[in-house]
Amino acid sequence: MSHLGMKLIYPMLNRREDTWCERSFAPWVDMEKQLRDHDLPLFAIESMMPLCDFDFVGFTLQYEMSFTNIINMLDLGKIPIRSVDRTMADPIIIAGGPCASNPEPLADFVDIFFIGDAEVTLDDLLDLYKIWKKTKKPRVEFLKQAVALEGIYVPAFYEPTYNTDGTLKDFQPIVEEAPQKVRKCFVDDLNTAYYPETLLVPYTSTVHDRVSYEIFRGCGRGCRFCQAGMLYRPTREKTSETIKNQIDILLKNTGYDEISLASLSSGDYPGIEILIKDLVDKYEQDNISVSLPSLRIDSVSIDMLEQMQKVRKSGVTLAPEAGTQRLRDVINKGVTEEDLMRTVQNAFEKKFGHIKLYFMMGLPTEKDEDIAGIAHLGHKVVETYFDTDEAVRNRSLKVVISAACFVPKPFTPFQWEAQDTMNEFVRKQKYLKNEIKSRKINYNWQDSHLSYLEAIFARGDRRLCKLLEAAQKAGCRFDGWSRMFDYDTWLQLIEDLEIDGMFYACRQREKEELFPWDFIDIGVTKEYLYHENQKAKLGELTPYCKEKCNDCGVMQFKEGWVCSEHYTV
Ligand code: SF4
Repeated sequence: MSHLGMKLIYPMLNRREDTWCERSFAPWVDMEKQLRDHDLPLFAIESMMPLCDFDFVGFTLQYEMSFTNIINMLDLGKIPIRSVDRTMADPIIIAGGPCASNPEPLADFVDIFFIGDAEVTLDDLLDLYKIWKKTKKPRVEFLKQAVALEGIYVPAFYEPTYNTDGTLKDFQPIVEEAPQKVRKCFVDDLNTAYYPETLLVPYTSTVHDRVSYEIFRGCGRGCRFCQAGMLYRPTREKTSETIKNQIDILLKNTGYDEISLASLSSGDYPGIEILIKDLVDKYEQDNISVSLPSLRIDSVSIDMLEQMQKVRKSGVTLAPEAGTQRLRDVINKGVTEEDLMRTVQNAFEKKFGHIKLYFMMGLPTEKDEDIAGIAHLGHKVVETYFDTDEAVRNRSLKVVISAACFVPKPFTPFQWEAQDTMNEFVRKQKYLKNEIKSRKINYNWQDSHLSYLEAIFARGDRRLCKLLEAAQKAGCRFDGWSRMFDYDTWLQLIEDLEIDGMFYACRQREKEELFPWDFIDIGVTKEYLYHENQKAKLGELTPYCKEKCNDCGVMQFKEGWVCSEHYTV
């Protein structure tokens, strides 16, 4: 219920006179047992109608390790797991979101994928469905009409072939209606696009229990590990007037006491300090606070921190990502140690005492001195605290270093790179643990087994569908939850099904290799991504789109589109 996409799509569908949209969530294992023991179907929570009785069942694909839950919900909802087994009586299974940028590991289970901003074609798809339903023609006829819409991918209409080394040889449409390339669709102007005037307010407290409000979409910073930064191009910004009007309506209609200004890099919104000040000035008397998700280090200003702490004090979350300047240049992070120290110094002078620092391990070209660099930055943050005047600084200090395992993702300059092996991750995690000397620093690391599986599915193909189905049958659920994740079962299944996990996760790809997701056109070209890959190896930076267009392909993708015309001033 914290997911912004669901908060947009639910009211968007329910505003249609002819549509009734409900929600359903994966039941925890105790509830699942009750459903299975009593042979009860999984239901939607508004009317308790079984999933199998709906026209459509849609999933948002946010994380590869949630895939077994999707298959399990189909099974619990009394819907045939595989598309080929569904009849006219069964719902159409649709899915969208970032993981739909490589939909192939789910190709056998989902009828229709949305590539890009679903809100662009969702209404058209429902209109098509209404017309088709009256015809009583077979499902395939509806799917053939659907692929005429931009951003719609029907996996059943394509056939992959493979080389003897296991790489993809070819990927061709097998029906004439299906396009060779599926072009993503995106909302042109967020100022005029549909945006809800109210939100569902959950009874229970949720992770993001507030108005999460999208101020712009896309990001032109070009961090080379970041999939969202490429997928959601071009950048489209709302005017501050649109933002203020829509937030005002949402606060009135929800009663929330916090606004989060969401985007991929909120500190980059032009005039963000003024916007925050205006919102804080307007809502402070109602005790409504304003917050920002994690901020780029070089976009944080003292004014912003001060404004945001007026109503409610929270920690500061920063993402240096890499421990040395060399590696930050390789990933095109474009921030320096000086930026970081200046920001934490400002934060300490404003009595912030809780600093979270996000890093990744296993980045391309990484050396041990880069890992040691993470500890070095943590120590410098602690030093900076103790160098801050005791009279102004917070009485206590907590520095958290979180180091995730890098997972190379499709549609990034690093899509060709091999992931570190699990042993190498464990070695580096231990190495960093030994390098961290301060007791003021808490250090969290990620389970490399989980990241290995995430990497398999992130760059996998439809030969992995049988693994997902077997995993669901073997009881794998909630794999993203450490107490539920059962690596040994996965390992056994991978062996039993003779799947080479290293082939998908830890193999360096050739420049010319055909990728399972190459049939999708997101605007950013493969040539541009490879060029960025090579620049990374040389440690060369690529400037921010707003400083200089780097010709990534987006402007050629949409006729007449000029990126700078969609920046607000
Ligand atoms: S076309 Fe240029 S300005 Fe637009 S997203 Fe690509 S690099 Fe950025």
